[in-house]
Amino acid sequence: MRRRELLKSLWATPLLTQSAKGLPPLTIKDVKVIATSAGRNYRWIFIKIITSEPGLYGIGSASNHFQPHAVIAAIEKHLAPWLIGKNPEQIEDLWQSGHLRTYWRNGPVNNNVLSGMDMALWDIKGKRAGMPVYELLGGKVRDAVPCYDHISGASREVIVENVQKSQAKGFRHIRVQMGAYGGGGFIADGKGGKAFDEDVYVETIPPLFEYVRSKVGFTPKLCHDVHSHLSGINAVEFSRRMQPYQMFFVEDVLSPEQLGWYKQIRQIATTPQAVGELFTHPFEFLPLVQDRLIDFVRCRVSAIGGITPAKKLATFCEPYGVRTAFQEGGENDPVNQLAAYHVDISHPAFGIQEENNFPDVAKEVVTGAAEIRNGSLYSNGKPGLGMDVNEALAAKYPIQPAAQGYQYPLDRTMDGTVVKP
Ligand code: MG
Repeated sequence: MRRRELLKSLWATPLLTQSAKGLPPLTIKDVKVIATSAGRNYRWIFIKIITSEPGLYGIGSASNHFQPHAVIAAIEKHLAPWLIGKNPEQIEDLWQSGHLRTYWRNGPVNNNVLSGMDMALWDIKGKRAGMPVYELLGGKVRDAVPCYDHISGASREVIVENVQKSQAKGFRHIRVQMGAYGGGGFIADGKGGKAFDEDVYVETIPPLFEYVRSKVGFTPKLCHDVHSHLSGINAVEFSRRMQPYQMFFVEDVLSPEQLGWYKQIRQIATTPQAVGELFTHPFEFLPLVQDRLIDFVRCRVSAIGGITPAKKLATFCEPYGVRTAFQEGGENDPVNQLAAYHVDISHPAFGIQEENNFPDVAKEVVTGAAEIRNGSLYSNGKPGLGMDVNEALAAKYPIQPAAQGYQYPLDRTMDGTVVKP
């Protein structure tokens, strides 16, 4: 064969249509949305990608508690028509082209959609390889994934009791809150309600931790979530006052609008900072990590676009000594928890995983969910992500109607100004 003909024949089989060695070619036949309340008040959205191989499909999490219907429409009207017919083996290319397909990229809805697609594609690849996803990401670097527990209480005595109960369950890392987010900083608003006062919060929470440490010592690793409730100089002062209690981390002392203050915090206090629950754009982390202004990246895997960007973010953090603390808990779903698990268990930059315990009814909707035992998360080791969704049961529990469009509950200050969550 002459050189020109040889080159021509190579071009005739473009890379993007080739299949993995020894396996028949695969195409995406259908993309379905599974939306469910899972028998509770959840608003879970899963993408199911069905392939040309009989019985081979993948499932990913695209959940968005506050704009679920926008995500559903984005999948059905925009992602599915683009994705059907493509090769599901090309995860990186589908992520890159899926990311650019919308022209305007990032943002929660776009990244939820990408996440559902990305997790489902990893699920398919794992099932096809006969391996759990963590094997494809490089294999286990730890036996299980340590999680931090959530405890709260209205008084310091109840809080200490709850920390001890959590330790008895096997948790070494425990997040301590005084009631709901902002708890410790609420005062009567004079109208029968409550108002958030930053100065009261900064005055109340450090002595709470002084008391907790005096009762439980320094063995439990303690966290606290400020949920962006403080403004600049109060976040600096809060971090300074928390220093004696050797926190594992304080979380989101600042809102995403005020990240510039982390430089001041670093100059004043060594209290470790976990940041980024509200981040959706991977580049939001870059300066904070590069300048070593934070200690933990704290995003939700399904909010940043799935396993592919989560693994990249962890790899970016590794040489800077910054660690992951992927967000779970609350209204999150077991598919997102498993996606985080597969990155956590296979990555050296892992720091801690937020726990989430699902009610039994939800575990019937999503079977094969990871389990927490003795403070650590375990998967079942099955190929892919290791779970499945019972579609008939999911359909029995539709998402509840959108009262007031599903708003995040906001706190307000004494004069009625809204507090950033
Ligand atoms: Mg948080």
